[in-house]
Amino acid sequence: MSRLLITHAHLLHPETGTRTDAGWIEVADGRIAATGTGRPPAPGEGVRVIDARGATVLPGLIDAHVHLLVTTLDLQAVASMTPGYLTVRALAEAGRMLRRGFTTVRDVGGADHGMARALDEGLVPGPRLIHGGKALSQTGGHGDLRPLGEDAPPCCDSRPNFARIADGVDAVRAAARDEFRKGAAHLKVLLSGGVASPHDEIAAVQYSEEEIRAAVEEAENHNRYVTVHAYHPRAVARALRAGVRCVEHGNLIDDETLALLVEKDAFLVPTLVAYEQTAKLGARSGLPESSRRKLAEVRDAGLSALERAHRAGANLVYGSDLLGPLHPAQLEEFRLRAEVQPAADVIRSATSTAARLLGMEGRLGTLAPGAHADLLLVDGDPLADLGVLTAPERHLKYVVKAGAVV
Ligand code: ZN
Ligand code: ZN
Repeated sequence: MSRLLITHAHLLHPETGTRTDAGWIEVADGRIAATGTGRPPAPGEGVRVIDARGATVLPGLIDAHVHLLVTTLDLQAVASMTPGYLTVRALAEAGRMLRRGFTTVRDVGGADHGMARALDEGLVPGPRLIHGGKALSQTGGHGDLRPLGEDAPPCCDSRPNFARIADGVDAVRAAARDEFRKGAAHLKVLLSGGVASPHDEIAAVQYSEEEIRAAVEEAENHNRYVTVHAYHPRAVARALRAGVRCVEHGNLIDDETLALLVEKDAFLVPTLVAYEQTAKLGARSGLPESSRRKLAEVRDAGLSALERAHRAGANLVYGSDLLGPLHPAQLEEFRLRAEVQPAADVIRSATSTAARLLGMEGRLGTLAPGAHADLLLVDGDPLADLGVLTAPERHLKYVVKAGAVV
């Protein structure tokens, strides 16, 4: 197996938010074998040496909220795309994510085990893909994209889609079991209206307490967890009381619900960049007028929610939730969060805290020996300026995934 030695690097440890002086890092068999400061060990036979010349090495980034399969916002266009074509488009985007510095992504609606397998086998370049299969939506919920004039049942569970419909405790259980059967690492449940879905209200609550509890019980039976799409305190509180481990978005969360989230040691994945980018694109985004109205509702509240969550000590994880043509802005979430959080905390959200959410603490998001050798080598100090991470074309020198230079 390939071996690698990086010398003369500052090592950025997210857990402590510190950056060492001249350090080195030794990689063998896809893992970090050893790290240290001062004089590097002599490279053995066949070891590739990278002299970092004062650059910074940090763990590869983790984006905990992507939808790889959603490569266009044009629902009509999707209808004419075959599953094969959709998958190729998705994996092409995965390759671009890796080159932005994301060595792991968590898909929360759409990606399947075949895509994860293709990436795992190295058939195409891309990040590690932690997939959750299809999200569960109630009829008329965030995942029910049928036009209002449509009376036929939703079609079809076999088509690539970000969500599937399940109503009632038994149907939710069956759908959850089916997603876990297909290798889902987590289960996503849609509990609020959404921006991209044309008909539901943001403040509306979807799914009953019993249905959410059924999903949580199935997830726990499978040693997995449930994460929910939710904006409103009513939906978030219902989810947390039912044992949900992670909340996506949370833009309208109030302090009382935040306190409950902290008390339960749950995770929050804000996705501010999605609203900013969609608003920027405006009418050109392809989103209907109804969606653009809802966008304004959540966009302004997002930053304040993040600031309050940070002050409350919530487990915050990096997410982008960019769809279709918006994917190039995936790193811009760093810039938005830096407005209300210190750089070290934002970096932690995309490394060590994200790894904890994934149940991969010590294996991802860290430079500790034994961890997967997913590394970035950047010019500059991200702790002093997060702009070092948001401009990969200027600052990102190397991406290493599982010990291999990309
Ligand atoms: Zn969502
Ligand atoms: Zn999403």
